[in-house]
Amino acid sequence: MSHSETTEQYDAIIIGSGMGGLTVASLLAQLGKKRVLLLERHFKLGGFTHSFKRGKFEWDVGVHYVGEMYPKALSRKVMDLVTGKAVDWQAGGPVIERYHFPEGSFDVPSDPKLFQKSLCEKFPDEATEINRYFKDLKSCQLWFARWCMSKYLPKWLGKLLIWPGKKLAMTITADYMKRFRSQHLKGILTGQWPDFGATPEKSAMAFHCAVASDFLNGSFYPIGGAQRISDSVEAIIEKHGGKCLVNRDVSEIIVENGRAVGVRASHKGTVVTYRAPVIVSNANAGVTFGKLVPEGFCAEEKAKASRLKSGVSALILFLGLKDDPRKHGFDDANYWLYSSSNHDLASQQSDPRMIEGGFLSFGSLRDPAAKSHVAQIIGFSDYNYWKEYSAKRWKRRGEDYESLKEEITNAMIERAEQFMPGVKELIEYQELATPVTVETFANHPQGMIYGQLCDPDRVEKDGWRVATSLPGLFLAGSDIGSPGVNGAMMASLFTAAKLLGPFGLVKVFSRL
Ligand SMILES: Cc1cc2nc3c(=O)[nH]c(=O)nc-3n(C[C@H](O)[C@H](O)[C@H](O)COP(=O)(O)OP(=O)(O)OC[C@H]3O[C@@H](n4cnc5c(N)ncnc54)[C@H](O)[C@@H]3O)c2cc1C
Repeated sequence: MSHSETTEQYDAIIIGSGMGGLTVASLLAQLGKKRVLLLERHFKLGGFTHSFKRGKFEWDVGVHYVGEMYPKALSRKVMDLVTGKAVDWQAGGPVIERYHFPEGSFDVPSDPKLFQKSLCEKFPDEATEINRYFKDLKSCQLWFARWCMSKYLPKWLGKLLIWPGKKLAMTITADYMKRFRSQHLKGILTGQWPDFGATPEKSAMAFHCAVASDFLNGSFYPIGGAQRISDSVEAIIEKHGGKCLVNRDVSEIIVENGRAVGVRASHKGTVVTYRAPVIVSNANAGVTFGKLVPEGFCAEEKAKASRLKSGVSALILFLGLKDDPRKHGFDDANYWLYSSSNHDLASQQSDPRMIEGGFLSFGSLRDPAAKSHVAQIIGFSDYNYWKEYSAKRWKRRGEDYESLKEEITNAMIERAEQFMPGVKELIEYQELATPVTVETFANHPQGMIYGQLCDPDRVEKDGWRVATSLPGLFLAGSDIGSPGVNGAMMASLFTAAKLLGPFGLVKVFSRL
């Protein structure tokens, strides 16, 4: 491979253009007047917020709904700042989640008071505990915000900040749920577990509460699709003299005199060296420390990266539809297809190639700018069933892989049809992404869509901080916060604040 070095000067290099990388890049450019170089290994910007097309159909990869995007919400203000208000958000309908359980279905209203009321009406004997749950949700949500901030503060101060409320945040979700007698109620309250990928017996309340409270006030969708986010940030970066380059696979962080000073990235058969005094990695933390940081540095982080507990890998079935799903009785809510309200039991008993946790949504019903109708069905899968195809190239993984995909696709469609008769006949186009697709395109080891497991260790022992032990190297993205668009964005706000100097946080908040 040939080598070259760019002579262009930048203030910061961001590895990866997911929501985390985009947040840091945009804030550094706007608030710090920095020239930012954003390097992305995919041929499109956006990470899990990118969109793709097949003929007339278009899908978002990792955005079905985003919470807290109503005009006065803090997350919306941050999103508006990051995107320069170039993205409009469409509020979802009155029902956010439609759960199908053997005990019966339950619709979650897009209003916390109505949600609480409908639960109390359905489970009157448990009303006192239900009311307490909503209070705990609120306090744990505030704790989560303090936890994100603690990653930016000196360690001792961060520990002090998260001390109050930590016990609840570190509690295993299933243990907390033991206060409820009805399994059906427990199943409803924990029904969003696939949004962060850890079943109640594994997850920490910190992640359960962060995600559950994020969606209490309903769902929102970026009008025109999630690609609008990176489109708008790209314009901001360029306006401030920076650049976004795709097809740049960073293979190494360059360290000189004990400082990160640049990166090497492969591009069309050439290894190109880019230099800047600040490097921010939005790549998965396991990749950053396992592959990009050279030996001899970040020893503690490397040890941590090698022992991380794997999170879930997913099957994502993209469907192009012949007709408007509304004509067939469907709406813009999320449909969750559960064969049991005990999410742990169901996950253990299901086929490991297609794990319990089926989700179906019609993306085009959320986007007033959509030109054709689409849907997605998502389930989880054990990476081991796909591992053998990981070394093979995209679209050249062979007949075995294709027939396995076909078998799983059919099973996913049949399962959806069983819960939602009429879905099958709507399908005109189908394409399945497997854990190796996620691994190939997003560089998440083992196709982990949410990074490491969202358990109590991710909160503390195996958690990541904004600054690394290598001077000049910083982290961004959901790995330092929680899974989700907001999780990646809010955590990365603190990375930007750190890089904007001693009054960085003041600079950011004064602009909100
Ligand atoms: C199927 C699916 C559905 C989802 N649905 C929702 C939803 O409805 N709502 C919600 O809020 N969240 C959802 N999420 C989660 C959410 O999309 C992610 O948690 C969030 O976008 C992650 O952002 P990030 O910046 O941490 O990482 P990513 O988006 O993964 O970005 C990391 C980027 O780094 C790049 N990269 C990695 N290594 C290198 C390298 N060596 N060189 C250059 N570039 C590199 C990757 O290609 C990628 O672009 C979903 C995720 C998936 C997969």
